[in-house]
Amino acid sequence: MEDTIAAISTTTGIGAISIIRLSGPEAINITNKVFTKNLTNAETHTIHYGFIKEKAEKIDEVLVSIMRAPKTFTREDIVEINCHGGIATTNKVLEILLNNGARLAEPGEFTKRAFLNGRIDLLEAEATMDLISSKSETARKISINTLTGETSNLIKSLRNDLVQIISNIEVNIDYPEYEDVEEMTNDKILPSIQLFKERLSNIIKKSEDSKVIKEGIKVGIIGKPNVGKSSLLNSLIEEEKAIVTSIPGTTRDIVEGTIVLGGITLNIIDTAGIRESSDVVEMLGVEKSRKIITSSDLIIFILNNNEEISDEEKELLKEIKDKKKIIVVNKIDLENKLDKSMLEDYIEISAKENIGVDKIKDRIKKLFNIGELQTSDLTYLSNARTISLLKKSMHQIEDTLEEIQNNSPIDIVELGLKDSWNTLGEVIGETYKDELLDELFSRFCLGK
Ligand code: GDP
Repeated sequence: MEDTIAAISTTTGIGAISIIRLSGPEAINITNKVFTKNLTNAETHTIHYGFIKEKAEKIDEVLVSIMRAPKTFTREDIVEINCHGGIATTNKVLEILLNNGARLAEPGEFTKRAFLNGRIDLLEAEATMDLISSKSETARKISINTLTGETSNLIKSLRNDLVQIISNIEVNIDYPEYEDVEEMTNDKILPSIQLFKERLSNIIKKSEDSKVIKEGIKVGIIGKPNVGKSSLLNSLIEEEKAIVTSIPGTTRDIVEGTIVLGGITLNIIDTAGIRESSDVVEMLGVEKSRKIITSSDLIIFILNNNEEISDEEKELLKEIKDKKKIIVVNKIDLENKLDKSMLEDYIEISAKENIGVDKIKDRIKKLFNIGELQTSDLTYLSNARTISLLKKSMHQIEDTLEEIQNNSPIDIVELGLKDSWNTLGEVIGETYKDELLDELFSRFCLGK
C-alpha cells in the first residue's frame, strides 16, 4: 500500500493563504489527529472550518477540504488544508502533519501518482508542469490543449492507424486457411503504410513548429575570443547586457539575452571564446561552449574579417557542419585579412557599427519559417522528449518500408510496425522506464 504524502502546494513566502496537500490512504486519519473536527464521516468534496492543533495548542485557523478516492487528482484520498500564509505558520502545519504519519512528498510526486494510478497519461503529466511554467499566452494554450487530452488523442489515433494495418496482417498469419480472408502481401499493405508515414511526418513538422512557438529558439553565439560575440549579442538585443572588452577571453560566463522575432522568442547565448586554454576558468567556459553547440537549435559562428582563420576555427566549422547555422564575418569596417573563399555561405557585418545585423535576423526568420508558423492549431507535441520519440517512430516506419522494398516476409514487416506502435506508446506513457519517470517528475515543483 502507498504511504501518505504531504507538501506545501503554494509558493513559500508571505501571502494571504497557503495550501498544504495530503494524498494517500491515511490522509483523512492523519488530519483527524491534528484538526479540531473529526472528518471520518465527512462527505467527499466538502470544506470544513476549524483549527490545526498540536496537543492542546491551537496552531492556525484553517479550512480543510476533503476529497475521497477515486474522484481526485491522484485517485487517492486527498486533503487540502488552507492555512494562513507565511513561512512560519505553513511550515509548522506541515511539520505537524509529518509528525503524525505523513511523509514529505518529492517534487512532482502528486502528479506522478496521478499518472501511475491512471488518472492522466504521461503527456498530460508533462503538460501539467508546462502549464505551471508557461510564460506566454501561446505556451499556455498549447499546454492546456495537451492537458485536456487532445494531444493524447492524436497519438492514440496514430497508434490506431497502425493497429489496423497490424491486425490485417495478423488475421492473415493466424488464419491462412480462411478462404474469405484476403491474402495480405507487402504490395497490399504498402499504400496504408505510406499514408501513415505521411500523416506522421506532418505531425512531426507541426510539432516542431509548436515547440518553437512554445519554447522559442535557442541560439548559441560561438567564436574565438575577441571576434565580437558580445558586441553582436548587444546589437541583437539592443541593450548593454553582455560585457564588451578588448581583452581576449573575458566573456567567461554565458550571457543570455532574449529578443522576440515575428512573435517567436530567441534565447541568445553568448559563449565563452572557444579555444584551447590553460586557464582553468576559461577552460570551464570552453566546456560549456561545446555543450551549447549540441544543445542549441541554431549556431551563429563568428569569424573576424581582420584576421586569418585559425586551425581551431577550421575545426569548429567542421564540428557545426550538420547543424543549423549562420556563419558571420564580423569587423568588415576593418581591413580584410580573412580568406572567405573557403566559406560556403556567410553574412558580413560590423557589430560595432551596427551594419548587417538585420540580415542575421532575416536569415533566422527564413531558417525557421518564422511568420509562417501556424499558431491556430495547437494540438501538437511540443517538447524534446516527445518529438524525439515521434522521430524514432518515423525511422522505424522508414526501416519497415525498406523491408518491404527488399521483399522481406510479412511477419518481419509486422515487427517493424509493432516497434513503431510501441514507440508511440512511450509518448503517452503506455510503456515507460522507471528512470524516465524519476527524471521527468523530479523537474516538477514541490507540492505538485
Ligand atoms: P567577444 O570576446 O567575442 O565577445 O568580443 P567582444 O564583443 O567583446 O569584442 C571584442 C572587441 O572587438 C571590442 O573591443 C569590440 O569593440 C571590438 N569589435 C566588436 N565588433 C567590432 C566590429 O564590427 N568592428 C570593430 N572595428 N571592432 C569590433
